[in-house]
Amino acid sequence: MRIGILAVQGAFEEHRSVLQSLGADTILLRQKSDIGTLDGLILPGGESTVQGKLLKDLHMLDPLKEMINNGLPVLATCAGLILLADKISNDENTWFGTLPVLVKRNAYGRQLGSFYYKGDVGDISDFNMTFIRAPYIESVSNNVDVIATAYDHIVGVRYKNQIGLAFHPELAEDNRIHQYFLDAINSYLFT
Ligand code: GLN
Repeated sequence: MRIGILAVQGAFEEHRSVLQSLGADTILLRQKSDIGTLDGLILPGGESTVQGKLLKDLHMLDPLKEMINNGLPVLATCAGLILLADKISNDENTWFGTLPVLVKRNAYGRQLGSFYYKGDVGDISDFNMTFIRAPYIESVSNNVDVIATAYDHIVGVRYKNQIGLAFHPELAEDNRIHQYFLDAINSYLFT
């Protein structure tokens, strides 16, 4: 299994070490020629505007978007969720636009810039979620499953082959979400 990790900016190394500890082959996607065939894709946290612009400049946005639309399993975290969203309430950009949700960037304001919240993520209970200048999801289309909430806001969704999380599972020292992603790919849960 070959998992691509977008590596133009942000917290890609942390995802890589979790996936490697679970025995997955990873490839850092720094340029278009790195993409090749993939069984899964990680979109890490970081700065969505910087990542989105680099994706465009490096001609990676369209090929990855096509792969996502064709069913490539994606785990997107924080800025990655913003890249997937088809609407951003406080930003005029959209990037991949493959996930039918409305997100708000930097949604918690200054006082709650970074925080932890323990809660359930789908069938995974008591996951320690790390939020860093995080977005939340203001609304979702009908066929999007909400898999996590924190302080009454939606912070995790699943839609077909796409999982979008507002927090950073790679910083939790708990690999259950990455393990779930790999298991779901292996058992064709996303197809
Ligand atoms: N604030 C960032 C953005 O809007 C996301 C933060 C993160 O990925 N930790 O892109």
